[in-house]
Amino acid sequence: MTDCIFCKLAAGVFPSNKVYEDDDVLVFHDLHPVAPVHVLVVPKTHIESLAHAAVEHQALLGKLMLVAAQVAGELGLESGFRTIINTGAGGGQTVFHLHVHVIGGPGLPAGIVGVATH
Ligand code: 5GP
Ligand code: ZN
Repeated sequence: MTDCIFCKLAAGVFPSNKVYEDDDVLVFHDLHPVAPVHVLVVPKTHIESLAHAAVEHQALLGKLMLVAAQVAGELGLESGFRTIINTGAGGGQTVFHLHVHVIGGPGLPAGIVGVATH
């Protein structure tokens, strides 16, 4: 069995605070939310990072985006939300299984990383 925490969550080895699941994708609440809503959209198949994605993952990558938008709506983020994919250590990635952060809710600051630049 892999040591990957997100593979284990996707396989149901550990319970996750799940908000959506289908055959390809799992969405669960982040353990350390940075906003009122903070969920992670995770493919069930192990892809280390966006930089490791290949042509065979093209449809799956698209599905992650569609699920992100669907779940954001279901979680009440009608006014908008932010999606973030950290890639590699230099991009701030700490869990090396591709995931899309969906964050939103009252008080979300403007700017790419949540810090206003003007
Ligand atoms: P990254 O820094 O790789 O883009 O994001 C990893 C995210 O996974 C972090 O926001 C962190 O809080 C979250 N995380 C790490 N381990 C767990 C876990 O075991 N369960 C959940 N729900 N989130 C986790
Ligand atoms: Zn994994």
